[in-house]
Amino acid sequence: MSAQVIVTIGLETHVQLKSRTKIFCSCAAEFGSTPNSNVCPVCLGLPGSLPVLNRKVFSLGLRAVLALGGTPSEVIKFDRKNYFYPDLPKGYQISQFDHPLGRGGFVEIDTPTGVKQVVLNRLHLEEDAGKLIHDNSPTESHVDLNRAGTPLAEIVTEPCLDSSEEAYEYLTNLKAILKTAGVSDCDMEKGHLRCDANVSIRKNAADPLGKRVEIKNLNSFKAVKAAIEYEVKRQAEALEKGEVMVQETRLWDDTRQKTFTMRSKEDAHDYRYFPEPDLVPFHLEVSEIEEARKSLPTLPRARKENLMAKYNLSEYDARLICADQEIENFFEDCVKIYNDVKTIAIWIKGSVFAYRAENSDEFKKFGLSRLKPQLLVQLIGLVDAGTLSLQVAKEKVFPEIVRGFSPAQVVKEKGLTQVSDTGALEGWIVEVIAANPKVVEDFKSGKESAVMFLVGQVMKKSQGKANPGMLGELIKKKLKEI
Ligand code: ZN
Ligand code: MN
Repeated sequence: MSAQVIVTIGLETHVQLKSRTKIFCSCAAEFGSTPNSNVCPVCLGLPGSLPVLNRKVFSLGLRAVLALGGTPSEVIKFDRKNYFYPDLPKGYQISQFDHPLGRGGFVEIDTPTGVKQVVLNRLHLEEDAGKLIHDNSPTESHVDLNRAGTPLAEIVTEPCLDSSEEAYEYLTNLKAILKTAGVSDCDMEKGHLRCDANVSIRKNAADPLGKRVEIKNLNSFKAVKAAIEYEVKRQAEALEKGEVMVQETRLWDDTRQKTFTMRSKEDAHDYRYFPEPDLVPFHLEVSEIEEARKSLPTLPRARKENLMAKYNLSEYDARLICADQEIENFFEDCVKIYNDVKTIAIWIKGSVFAYRAENSDEFKKFGLSRLKPQLLVQLIGLVDAGTLSLQVAKEKVFPEIVRGFSPAQVVKEKGLTQVSDTGALEGWIVEVIAANPKVVEDFKSGKESAVMFLVGQVMKKSQGKANPGMLGELIKKKLKEI
């Protein structure tokens, strides 16, 4: 980056609520159906049709507000946001303007300087628009209105994020909260979570906020991060050159990793919001709020703190483990039958996470259902007893037990028992020493680290079966005999 600048970021996130049907009609809110098959007069915006608020959608929105620590509005009211676009046959989107479902709340994130509360401005309910399809034909654009009327919650932060890393962290934590609260599946591939970023920069903290640039078309958290980084650099360079910044909307091009001007940015008053006459405002009962609050599960932040307090885990480990409820349950079940919490955490962070990353389809299908806690604990027991080297346990046995096989059986069938017999170890040592005269010379001239290299060579030769704890001394002894 050229000059040092102060970055200010606000995020607007559209989250698809977990309802089988749309927000104002009973059409299926389904992904991947035949185009224009999930439609009716209401979501097509045909004259004379009347919207009816889906109560399930409403209670999911309320849950989201409460899970995020916001305050629900007393009066629930919907408004029309007027604009023209071919994917919006009604000419307006039903949204909420002056009485959003919730105000305030926050998402806590970890930053290098400590915990930060990302303050939320509001959460409102609205309907999604349809979708334009441009790649079916070279000369025509097609419209699919299946998505029109899909229930969304729009969650708007205050402009309080200072970097692309904070934005990424915020989205990750927001997703975890919404998923845990059962508000949304947050499946990015199905467009359940879409984000717009408002980015501005200024030179000094005393300066007023710079002109706000809104970036759209951000389809992944990675894209959000990259787009913010690109935009900060672009704006800083423009500022350096003395160019006048304009308020505008830009589109992110993920292939070219660049933003492009889309239009000069409109303000809220351009939309001529007015009350939706077909949906009567109503009061939200306190009892309904309390009932929703009581039904919330323990949220990720609290779960993390529980893990830290209960098992003395580091914040980092606790966060990784509680990010997935199944992993957290697995961890707790293992700890019940094996008391070394640290070792269990290491296996989960290392082998279990690697398995999940490398076999994502399989993991989606089976999760940890085949890896019973007993199997992992038995495997750790074999390492503790010296029957297995850690390396063989990780590389050769774990991939089998994760699919439900017993570790003892795998060790037996594959002949993986650790070799601790001095005679056998010395056999390998002699061979390795003979093959590495240069390293032996190094040792003779006082380079102690040469021994570590030879330990590695013996481990390799023995295919990981040699007992590494015994090798150092044996190798030194042999080298001194030369
Ligand atoms: Zn419909
Ligand atoms: Mn919106």
